[in-house]
Amino acid sequence: MRLATITNWAYGATVVLTIVSSTTMIFASNAQDRERAAVEQRYVLDRATAELGNEIYLLSDRARQFVNTDDPTYLAAYRSEVAALKAIEERIAHIGNAGATASELGALKEAIALADTLHDEQEAALKAYVSGDVAAARKILFGAEYERQLDRAELDIQRFQDRLDSRIAAQVADATEISQLWKRISEVALALTALLVLCVLYFVFKQRVLHPVVKLSDVVNRLAVQDYAAEPPEFSQIDEIGDMAQAIRIFRENGLERQRLEAERDADRMMRDLLSRMTQRMQGCDTLHDLQEVVQRFVPEIAPGLPGRLYLLDKQRNLVVEAGSWLGPVRSAGQFSPISCWALRRGLRHRPAGDNVDVPCDHVDRDTGLPIDTLCLPLTAQRETLGLLYFEMPADEAPRIAAQMIYFDMLAENIGLAIANLQLRDTLREMAMADSLTGLANRRQLGHVLETQIAQAERLGEPLGCLMIDVDHFKRFNDVHGHEAGDAVLRAVGQVLANVTRETGLAFRYGGEEFLVLLPTLSSRQAEDRAQDIRARIAALELGHGGKDLDPISVSVGVAVAPVHCGFDRLVRTADAALLRAKANGRDRAEMAQPREAKAE
Ligand code: GH3
Ligand code: MG
Ligand code: MG
Repeated sequence: MRLATITNWAYGATVVLTIVSSTTMIFASNAQDRERAAVEQRYVLDRATAELGNEIYLLSDRARQFVNTDDPTYLAAYRSEVAALKAIEERIAHIGNAGATASELGALKEAIALADTLHDEQEAALKAYVSGDVAAARKILFGAEYERQLDRAELDIQRFQDRLDSRIAAQVADATEISQLWKRISEVALALTALLVLCVLYFVFKQRVLHPVVKLSDVVNRLAVQDYAAEPPEFSQIDEIGDMAQAIRIFRENGLERQRLEAERDADRMMRDLLSRMTQRMQGCDTLHDLQEVVQRFVPEIAPGLPGRLYLLDKQRNLVVEAGSWLGPVRSAGQFSPISCWALRRGLRHRPAGDNVDVPCDHVDRDTGLPIDTLCLPLTAQRETLGLLYFEMPADEAPRIAAQMIYFDMLAENIGLAIANLQLRDTLREMAMADSLTGLANRRQLGHVLETQIAQAERLGEPLGCLMIDVDHFKRFNDVHGHEAGDAVLRAVGQVLANVTRETGLAFRYGGEEFLVLLPTLSSRQAEDRAQDIRARIAALELGHGGKDLDPISVSVGVAVAPVHCGFDRLVRTADAALLRAKANGRDRAEMAQPREAKAE
């Protein structure tokens, strides 16, 4: 049964019981009124009958005193008493008519009749006395008969009073009993009403106040220790409890929001810490290989559960080439043309999935049968494309990824900058190592390279060839056409050497108009062939300067191969000795080193 129905029934019962109790109280009060009226009636009749008795005696006394003393005042008193007696008789008759029973009235009427008889006798005695018959008067007033009648009158009055007393007593007892009964009923009804009211109050208090307050207090205690799983109960009532529940609900919602924001802030701080640590490590990298290791270590932490690849742009081949991967990506090719990636084409992040309707990139394999959700982030620095950061998204991760896109952008930006820094460092290093006029490596770099080449040749047991090349009569170009023409000749010769050694990159400007070429693994014959090839290519150059053709360029070459002609440590000097011989033998030629030269060196 609903709470409202129960309380309505209880209110109805309380009202009924209240009416019952007040009605019975009215009945009890009526019974008490009747009791009081009966007592009052008895009092009035008692007094009247007592007065009647007194008057009867008083009349007899006055008549007797007059007869005995002959004092006329007694007679006057007697007459006034007679008048009083009449009034009393009338009053008794009136009251009797109002309340006394027939039998009571019978006794009273007998008493009044006796009083009348005595009065007649008194009148007769007084008449006799006045007529001078004192003896007759005395005989009447003091005779035995008179005395007997006087006693009877008293007895009648006494009898009337007794009957009246017993009747009134019975009436009073009845009224008292009824009054008691109603009083008891009224008390019981009142007690029941009070009990019901208390029950209703308790019930209402328990259901509407105690239970809700206990529940709310439990929720408040849990919220106080930040247990926001505690849900405040729904109280629709419009009172303080309802207000309290509403306030607690708002408090909980605020707490949940604060907790969410704190978690968001913590996650953000953690992510930024991770990104910053990764950036620091990348700044410490010396090579792209180091960088690739840092990326492979950090990216799966920053983007957990997302397989991906790092690609670098090979400008010479115009290809985007894989430089590292994590968590086994399956869709994207290992290398591809930059044009096949929309992110690289537009220089913007590209994600053809989720809410974005977009074109998948060509480097992404679309035949795996899985829904395509990939993310390509171009790696750029100073508006120059350096590579690509590529991710594959599991289907259920889409909402998380969308919320974390800012971190992906930061990641790509940081990696792009790190690559740019490395490349810049390499460029600077190259610039320091390279000869600015010809673009070939300089003599300083030859020192490092020669060391590693010799170590490698010794380790592999392979020969290492060396060509020492000097432009013949170079001074003439300077002298005839000017220094700039001389520079042009040096650049052209450098270019020939760079082309010839494109794969190994082992051509050096040794100083002035002298060049050196290292030829790993080549035999003496091959080295000599290479020297002749270089000589022929240079001889074939046709240069002009200031509108004039320059003379053909010829070079002299000294060829030495270690360990054929000399030890590895004397390779350069042996080649130089061979060059001197080439000069001495008339220039424009290549001379192989001779054991003699090697020994001399
Ligand atoms: P040879 O056939 O004996 O080698 O005669 P050569 O004239 O080539 O040799 P020499 O050593 O007498 O002259 C070399 C000249 O090269 C001297 C120097 O002024 C010039 N030279 C050195 N470095 C440069 C340079 O960078 N640019 C120009 N234009 N000239 C240079
Ligand atoms: Mg020279
Ligand atoms: Mg020279």
